[in-house]
Amino acid sequence: METRSLELFAEARKLIPGGVNSPVRACSSVDSTPLFIAAGKGSRIRSADGEEYIDFVQSWGPLLLGHAHPKVLAALREALENGTSFGAPCEAELRLAQAICAAVPSIEMVRMVSSGTEAAMSALRLARGCTGRKKLLKFDGGYHGHADAFLARAGSGVATLSIPGTPGVPEAVVSDTLIAPYNDSQAAEDLFRLHRDEIAAVFVEPAAGNMGLVLPRPGFLESLRALCDRYGALLVFDEVITGFRVAYHGAQGHYRIKPDLTVLGKIIGGGMPVGAYGGKRDLMLQVAPAGPVYQAGTLSGNPAAMAAGLATLRVLRGLDYAALSAAVEDFCRELEGIFAAKGIPARINRLASMFTVFFSEREVTDFASAKNADQTRYTKFYKHLRARGVYIAPSAFETAMVSFAHGREDFRQTLEAADTLEF
Ligand SMILES: *Cc1c(COP(=O)(O)O)cnc(C)c1O
Repeated sequence: METRSLELFAEARKLIPGGVNSPVRACSSVDSTPLFIAAGKGSRIRSADGEEYIDFVQSWGPLLLGHAHPKVLAALREALENGTSFGAPCEAELRLAQAICAAVPSIEMVRMVSSGTEAAMSALRLARGCTGRKKLLKFDGGYHGHADAFLARAGSGVATLSIPGTPGVPEAVVSDTLIAPYNDSQAAEDLFRLHRDEIAAVFVEPAAGNMGLVLPRPGFLESLRALCDRYGALLVFDEVITGFRVAYHGAQGHYRIKPDLTVLGKIIGGGMPVGAYGGKRDLMLQVAPAGPVYQAGTLSGNPAAMAAGLATLRVLRGLDYAALSAAVEDFCRELEGIFAAKGIPARINRLASMFTVFFSEREVTDFASAKNADQTRYTKFYKHLRARGVYIAPSAFETAMVSFAHGREDFRQTLEAADTLEF
């Protein structure tokens, strides 16, 4: 029963482009219409139609503690009683900065903003300002928010909708964006050779989460670190998804690579709008008003987002990431077993609390191999699960997000639903 969601969607389409405030939500790539969500608690959400779903989207990553965690809600309530925004410093932003710097060794100073997009855009400006160079190297299928410079062969919604670039981005802006295939160190090196003194920064998701989940091959991130050092460019890790998710100290802690700058978002806001960028002290001291690189924000560091983020990190610090990772590993193995028994070729990429099912015979290591997976099968899988109360990303180019609130029963029900799938 999705009657109410359909009614609301029809109304929304009259007033909001495509009926949604972010493209992938429209569910068009999986031949569906969106569920309107009324409430969430832990691993579950309830639609406007009153149906319950096991949620593997978790707001696309921020909710590593699950929906409506009591400690996060309590911190938010307390903050809200005292007002939502002052446009002046508050203690909570200092405490969140401390928590981030303590967790992520490469971050010595940090600036709060209100979205991952804003954080990536600002980190790029800073990298250009510090190096005096213009070019940016990113990877095919990598997503760093929707700022102009990054919208060349991007992942996430851009990939889902098969938009190569996008109208409205001047060619001159993306002409400084260089693109290499993910996991291809040689291609990155070739671009450095060609544009020696011109590349300001390499932007990379240390585990790519926006073309589905694609893991870095051993040595890939190390090679980027070495190239940046050799050619005087900055290495920027976009950890908007992986920060505090792959490990409390991020993917950079997990893979033991130190970037120069890090872009954060999602989890550090605990479900409130947030982003942050940080890194080496000498670089961050170039940001206004300490330095000349301008960046500002009316709601930056607002007490509500800071309280939700801080409460989230405080709870996460005491949780067992290895246990969650092991639970996801067991679940993925069982799911692989189900597909194997049915003779359905599938590859399940996974890392910590993330996984993506690719209906493919081949290993998925970059955007090309991700696109090679069978999207018609993904659509069937999506619809099949949704009809059985399991909500996964409405796109083959997204990552399933598991939270600490997911338990045995959630995995069991999901496997049971998958087991009745027929192609
Ligand atoms: C979500 C995401 C962003 C953009 O963050 P928003 O808060 O949606 O603007 C940037 N980079 C990565 C890797 C992301 O997953």
